[in-house]
Amino acid sequence: MPRLPFEVQSRLPAVGTTIFTRMSRLAQECGAINLSQGFPDFEADPELFARVQHWMRAGANQYAPMAGMPQLREAIATKLQALYGAAYDAETEITVTAGATQALFTAVAALVHPGDEVIVFEPVYDSYIPAIELQGGMVRRARLQAPDYRPDWAEVAALISPRTRMIMINTPHNPSGAVWSAADMAQLAALVRGTDIIIVSDEVYEHIVFDGASHESVARYPELAERSLVVSSFGKTYHVTGWKVGYLCAPAALMAEFRKVHQFNVFTVNTPVQLALADFMANPAHHLELAAFYQQKRDQFRAALAATRFERLPCAGTYFQTVRYGAISDASDTAFVEWLTREVGVAAIPLSAFFTDGRDEGVIRFCFAKRPETLQAACERLERFC
Ligand code: PMP
Ligand code: GLN
Repeated sequence: MPRLPFEVQSRLPAVGTTIFTRMSRLAQECGAINLSQGFPDFEADPELFARVQHWMRAGANQYAPMAGMPQLREAIATKLQALYGAAYDAETEITVTAGATQALFTAVAALVHPGDEVIVFEPVYDSYIPAIELQGGMVRRARLQAPDYRPDWAEVAALISPRTRMIMINTPHNPSGAVWSAADMAQLAALVRGTDIIIVSDEVYEHIVFDGASHESVARYPELAERSLVVSSFGKTYHVTGWKVGYLCAPAALMAEFRKVHQFNVFTVNTPVQLALADFMANPAHHLELAAFYQQKRDQFRAALAATRFERLPCAGTYFQTVRYGAISDASDTAFVEWLTREVGVAAIPLSAFFTDGRDEGVIRFCFAKRPETLQAACERLERFC
């Protein structure tokens, strides 16, 4: 094509290609074991595939209702009741989305007005800030400090102003693997009490919490749930990140606003996949077994890393393990992961990618959602060079 005959005015001038895309591409170019972008290297349950095939053949191939298939919304409501004691109305308070990314983006687009302030916690998942800025929102950053990445509630309190419209939280947390406690939720509840602040709670790793701890969903706390939009993703829960199906639940008044935008940026999500997910959810073991399944992987990976000079930071949930590499190299985290990918043959994500100012604390993230043999092969390489 000929060159664009004018200069395009970018809405996101500071944004390039995401770190996940770049590191996965580099891993592929170098033939490295890819522990960077978060996705499993094993297959989902064949029963789930059989249900998709069943529904496609049964003719469930046209548009689903805008909010999602009723069967799936009912299954989600049943799970929310069973796990968190939360009563969400499947008709008016649950919407099926094209993954968590769309749910988060649509929530921000529906509720943040130009000039509104939105508080996020850094290191922050990469999609939040662009979503806020595209709506003309003003980002306010609270810090999560290594090694345990706990929120500093006094700092959050100081960030709240009359213009604060929203707080976006994420537990279990990507990239740190930190999990918020009941005490954190109580602090959050105290801060928003009596305000009109909306909470967006990204809980895509809700079923991946280790060592017998419980996931503190905002849905558990009526005082928080009444002002929250809760987001989850079937990609994480059923090992199908490429399907891009998730959901959002919220009180009816917030959901009504969410759906006004959802109907125009997605309208509706893949019908046979929704029906298959509804069937699969009927067996709660499919999500209840996830924590033990991933804890085994975390333990295998952490144990093997003990033979390296990496300093392992705590990992209470998610499928990510963060480490400090200061005993191995004084390179920047970006240079270090490039070296690791090219020379050692293991790709990782630098945590500076989750800071707006590119803050480099000498920490990188590995994804352990991999087969035991993949983890073993990666660790053999890491042991040799690190
Ligand atoms: N939020 C967090 C914290 C995530 O880690 C991810 C995906 N890794 C998403 C949102 C996006 O999920 P989805 O693929 O369902 O859009
Ligand atoms: N959320 C995944 C991760 O943290 C990546 C998803 C993406 O590539 N956007 O690695």
